[in-house]
Amino acid sequence: MATIQIRTAIPGPKSKALMDRRNAAVARGPFHSTPIFVAKGEGAVLEDVDGNRFLDFAGGIGCLNMGHRAPRVLEALSKQLDQFLHVCFSVTPYESYIAVAEKLNALAPGDFPKKSVLVNSGAEAVENAIKIARAYTKRPAVICFEDAFHGRTLMAMTLTSKPHPYKAGFEPLATDVYRIPYAYAYRSQAGTTVEEFAHHLEDAFKRHVAAENVAAVIAEPVLGEGGFVVPPREYFAALHKICKKHGILFIADEVQSGIARTGKWFASEHFGIEPDLVVSAKSLGGGLPLAAVTGRAEVMDAPGVGGLGGTFGGNPLSCAAALAALETIEKEGLLARSLEIGKKFEARARGWQKKMELVGDVRGLGGMCAIELVRDERTKEPADSETKELSKYCYEHGVINITAGTYGNVMRILVPLVVTDEQFDEGLDVIEAGLASVAEKRQLAQATV
Ligand code: PLP
Repeated sequence: MATIQIRTAIPGPKSKALMDRRNAAVARGPFHSTPIFVAKGEGAVLEDVDGNRFLDFAGGIGCLNMGHRAPRVLEALSKQLDQFLHVCFSVTPYESYIAVAEKLNALAPGDFPKKSVLVNSGAEAVENAIKIARAYTKRPAVICFEDAFHGRTLMAMTLTSKPHPYKAGFEPLATDVYRIPYAYAYRSQAGTTVEEFAHHLEDAFKRHVAAENVAAVIAEPVLGEGGFVVPPREYFAALHKICKKHGILFIADEVQSGIARTGKWFASEHFGIEPDLVVSAKSLGGGLPLAAVTGRAEVMDAPGVGGLGGTFGGNPLSCAAALAALETIEKEGLLARSLEIGKKFEARARGWQKKMELVGDVRGLGGMCAIELVRDERTKEPADSETKELSKYCYEHGVINITAGTYGNVMRILVPLVVTDEQFDEGLDVIEAGLASVAEKRQLAQATV
């Protein structure tokens, strides 16, 4: 039986009424990928307030790798509800915070002593990673990448690449941040080698900032918001080697790519690197807000007592949920499942690419997969309005999805890894029908010009 059930026009009357209230009461700033208000979530399925049932291919932007309301997470939360809610780790500490840190220290790549600190959001973790790197190296500068996304707080938005909507109007930005191109093969000159991509870092030391002033290089192992770009396998090792030569720390922002999304606990593992610091968030909390910086013990201990932390960082409910979420990933084999999902997606999407010029690139790492839409396979003109249209088609036909990319022309898949094969196929059928519909409209429009 089909999972998707659409009973009303999308959005339905109750969602519409809520959107009116939202517009009256909530600031314009927070963006919505869909006009649908949710009533219930389970596994990879969402039900809206009008009784429509959707497949969730967005997972709250990659926060639900273990699925909505994962049973172990619910059980752990319910136990924690009977104990205490908030006490503040800085006032009266508790065991679950330590257990999450121990788990992350064991899971993060690198065969060396590690420590962690817990905070509330990806952006906050990025801010802390930079503070820690500066405290350790006693250097001010940070190097980041084109097409990067690191969050919306001051340092995080400065590190983020895209001016609109993330930075423009919010200046002045943080200082001592320098940006180099990422290894975005699809939009680079054909045949660009790993050495050429990595050379941008050495070049930055000549053109922008002295290497001895650089505390850290921060990179997403797979670009998230920037369009799920997967660099060549040897890229980060080449960058890390340059960092080591100059005493610069390498920070992997694994907020979106971490916690099983790519078929490994951290995407860095695919690239054979051991970052000095790893930033995690999103699926770490099993649906609750939790983020972390994990790294070399001596680096993590550079800030003094009281220099890191916050009122709610690593709150007891989030820690209980995190331990259960990590256990779910382990016990339900979700690392392997992510790889299967990636393979299944690639097989289908390559078929679309063969049939439709619109599908310019198919890429991904495990279950972190995407298609990049273009108007012309030769010029690679980004098909941004078509991507929006595809996204709308998909949610109107029962697949919640999100787009990405500096040009807004990428559809990304962050489906909960507990999705069944039948559900995943059903969702992919909707995307395929959506692509066909968008391509057909484009042909008709061209024929009438
Ligand atoms: N870093 C990456 C790679 C992200 O994808 C995100 C959010 O999407 C962030 C940082 C910011 O995380 P948050 O929205 O939890 O602040």
